[in-house]
Amino acid sequence: MLNIQTSIVATYADCQGCSLCILPCPMWQQHHDVMFSPQGIAKAMQSGAQADDLREPLENCIHCGACDAICPENIDLTGMITQFRQDISLPENSKKEDALSPFVISCDASVQAQIGDDDLYIIDAAPFHADYANRIEHYDALRKQTGCGMNLDLNRMAIATGIGSVADDAGQFDVKKQVQWLVQGRCFERVIVENHADMVLLREITGKPVFCVAELLGIVVERRGENEAG
Ligand code: SF4
Ligand code: SF4
Repeated sequence: MLNIQTSIVATYADCQGCSLCILPCPMWQQHHDVMFSPQGIAKAMQSGAQADDLREPLENCIHCGACDAICPENIDLTGMITQFRQDISLPENSKKEDALSPFVISCDASVQAQIGDDDLYIIDAAPFHADYANRIEHYDALRKQTGCGMNLDLNRMAIATGIGSVADDAGQFDVKKQVQWLVQGRCFERVIVENHADMVLLREITGKPVFCVAELLGIVVERRGENEAG
């Protein structure tokens, strides 16, 4: 018998307009305009728009992947955006982690022992969303182990600062505004970040000590362009 395997891949044509992807989308947070959201892009394409018609939102996407994790139709939204960006020759974003993965470091027992409920722990959101199914359990366990209470704003901590994205480099994403929103209304004594690049801005905005998880492990991380502030 001939065995024909088929796979069904959800595309922008499957978007039913539930708006869930808008909630965690950093570019929507900055514009408050549905066109700057994955839903807006998908719906525009359903209506016959071309990638060039959507140049501005395509340029503003920081490729954090938060929309992929939440879409109930399992549409590969970052794949869709990547394709459209390629269609109009925009530079590629990357979700690759450093060789020294902050996620791996955050699994270390000696690191976890140094984190407490007075800490604000900011994950590196892009790799988190790229491997959401495997990592959500780890971060929930970390929250419980370190004595942190239920975080009603959990999605705000799982949103990227956007630093180092193509949109940030091109001056089309306001990282400072994003960080201000991330920490707004929070009480904490120090900040722990996974992405070393987030340290300087968080120190400047919060006025609190900021550590990288690699430092908690006693690893000296040297990064180009990093000038310690304060
Ligand atoms: S990848 Fe991030 S910034 Fe881009 S559309 Fe999805 S949620 Fe918004
Ligand atoms: S979450 Fe998915 S189905 Fe819902 S509006 Fe966004 S892209 Fe469309």
